Amino acid sequence: MSRRRILVCGAGGFIGNHLVNRLKEEGHWVRGADLKYPDFSKTAADDFQIADLSRQDRCAGVFDTGFDEVYQLAADMGGAGYIFTGENDANVMHNSASINLNVLEAARRSGTSKVFYSSSACVYPEHNQLDANNPITSEDSAYPAAPDSEYGWEKLFSERLYLAFNRNAGMHNRIARYHNVFGPLGTWTGGREKVPAALCRKIAEAPNGGTIEIWGDGEQTRSFLYVEECVEATLRLTHSSLAEPVNIGSEEMVSINQLAALIMDIAGKKLSIRHIPGPLGVRGRNSDNRLIREKLGWEPDYGLAKGIEATYRWIFDQVSRGQDAAETA
Ligand code: NAD
Repeated sequence: MSRRRILVCGAGGFIGNHLVNRLKEEGHWVRGADLKYPDFSKTAADDFQIADLSRQDRCAGVFDTGFDEVYQLAADMGGAGYIFTGENDANVMHNSASINLNVLEAARRSGTSKVFYSSSACVYPEHNQLDANNPITSEDSAYPAAPDSEYGWEKLFSERLYLAFNRNAGMHNRIARYHNVFGPLGTWTGGREKVPAALCRKIAEAPNGGTIEIWGDGEQTRSFLYVEECVEATLRLTHSSLAEPVNIGSEEMVSINQLAALIMDIAGKKLSIRHIPGPLGVRGRNSDNRLIREKLGWEPDYGLAKGIEATYRWIFDQVSRGQDAAETA
């Protein structure tokens, strides 16, 4: 494929950083934009602009030229401990909606016609995800809308915004509903980490025979998508003709207790689990991949265990480095 000029918004974040690496491997010219540089590695972007995209003037500055493609991954975001407590609702909605409004307006003004937007499985109604074993997440089940978080409502609003620009501004935007993406170089501590990283950290930190804590009874179910497969699907969707929102996730559903057991196995540790109250999200969630299979002829197949193994090794290293630093301080 020919060399393209590409902008990645949210390039300092977990998925955005991996996406920049992949785009650079493919030989494209890449500008990254974010409030911050990537946390755990240097960016591979040709140009990286530190910019608050929720400010119209700063966002317009990042679009000082048109791009062949834009990937919009910037959002105010975190795991259940950030999204479901209710304490961050105003920031999440205001920051993320402002970013999407500004990105679309700046794209239109700069003559950029294709923006990939990272929506979320959090758009799906809570009442379809009460049964841990049979959650419903077919794309058409998003309406009538009833997401269980303001984060999900903002995603739904922004999906509609990208679709409206397709209809009224001649754009060719693409929309993915990501389901729980994980892998190395992701947030693993500090309160915004998601369950695979949080469990890897807890298990890496615990002495063999010790105890870790899990929110709820651990029987809530989820599926987890390895970040490299997420990037692959993102590129395939962006270059496809599929204009409606589509799930990008894994269908390999596990309970949180099963996930913990898998990580303990990989770590070679036997630990007890103490179940404690905490923010939980929906009872069950799995990706429904029928649409992506049908329209893109593709679905992820990397396997949870392989992805968790790579992630655990990376988090184990981070934890060990932290412990070494604390000992020498
Ligand atoms: P992340 O938090 O690592 O990355 C988001 C980035 O956006 C961060 O680097 C942050 O600094 C940046 N950002 C926030 N506000 C900004 C602003 N005002 N201006 C500029 N940059 C700003 O998250 P991620 O896991 O890489 O997720 C990327 C996208 O995918 C997000 O839109 C997220 O909602 C969506 N998503 C992720 C998952 C997942 O499991 N990781 C699941 C569903 C949807």
